[in-house]
Amino acid sequence: MGRPVMSETITSVIPGAKAPTPKPWIDAIHAYVPGKSKGKDGRPLIKLSANENPLGTSPAALAARAQAPALYPDPDSTALREAIGAAHGIDAARVVMGTGSDELLNLAAQGYAGVGDEVVYVRYGFSVYDIAARRCGATPVVAPDLDYGTDVDALLALVSERTRVVFVANPNNPTGSYLPAGEIARLHAALPADVLLVIDQAYGEYVAPEDADGALALAEAHENVLVTRTFSKIFGLAGERIGWATGAPSLVATLNRIRGPFNVSATGQAMALAALGDPGFLEASRVHNRDERARFVAKLEALGNHGLRPLPSQANFVLVLFEGKLSAEVAFDGLADRGYIVRWLPGQGLPQALRITIGKAEDMDTIAAALREMAEDAK
Ligand SMILES: *Cc1c(COP(=O)(O)O)cnc(C)c1O
Repeated sequence: MGRPVMSETITSVIPGAKAPTPKPWIDAIHAYVPGKSKGKDGRPLIKLSANENPLGTSPAALAARAQAPALYPDPDSTALREAIGAAHGIDAARVVMGTGSDELLNLAAQGYAGVGDEVVYVRYGFSVYDIAARRCGATPVVAPDLDYGTDVDALLALVSERTRVVFVANPNNPTGSYLPAGEIARLHAALPADVLLVIDQAYGEYVAPEDADGALALAEAHENVLVTRTFSKIFGLAGERIGWATGAPSLVATLNRIRGPFNVSATGQAMALAALGDPGFLEASRVHNRDERARFVAKLEALGNHGLRPLPSQANFVLVLFEGKLSAEVAFDGLADRGYIVRWLPGQGLPQALRITIGKAEDMDTIAAALREMAEDAK
């Protein structure tokens, strides 16, 4: 009550006053929408909306967290890069770390594209590609899908002399679709040598064998291929924000120039290093996902007469299309009523679909039973 004059003066809008104006390409960005963990009423739900590992995190990694120093981390993540190199047969000098692979995807666009350039990716792809392209002023160019999968010919048809970067997630998110090695090689072979091909293998560890699409070998052999990986998904370290990329020394040098100097925390480096030293956890996670995904998909396929269609997935989630009386929106709300949050993606042009992360066996059973019940009741 005792401060009316001053505060009114300060907060009043001065007609004609200037304010900072964001760049128009920044203004056009729709901020990333993360998978939620609460229902509409604020109730915490079992979260199957962000493709996290239902087995949690390697106990070895959790133990390493307590040991990590609180001072500045190693700016070059040396021990971690060496361990990644050893695990994949890559020279550690060809590995660059990021604050999650999101940072590396953004840096790849920023390093090679700008105003007047084009960045190509597929519709129903990872929404970070759109942000990464727009952030640096480049124009996003979106290729049509082939029954929700990545269509190499459609991507290539959009490559022009303005194209600087092509993003492909393999397996793809949110569809779970997978391009075999022959298709990835065909895409690369048809691209001009000065176009950067970024192959995002965030879910690569769920595929057996891991590099079945040949992306790491392409990154080893060519100057214009960057492969990104993450510790967020199968390693269960999403909270620590650790990703890595590999490619030709010139690509790695570009990303190193523009990344944050201390972009991977000390805890993140220590936990990721410990996680790499626990192949048992990795294998258990892969086997759990493979088996539970197969069981879940079989149950959904049995609901085909109700219009439910699970797309073939090589990742740790399944995109389920609702093409009958039960809509994805009603199913989303029904699952929330039963304690589960999954991902409904109308903002990505998929109002007819739910992306469901593979969780614990009992949760997948409950979800499949709930979908059956809702589908049978739908009018
Ligand atoms: C989850 C995900 C990422 C990884 O994000 P981080 O920043 O490493 O947590 C990258 N690409 C795709 C396609 C993803 O789904």
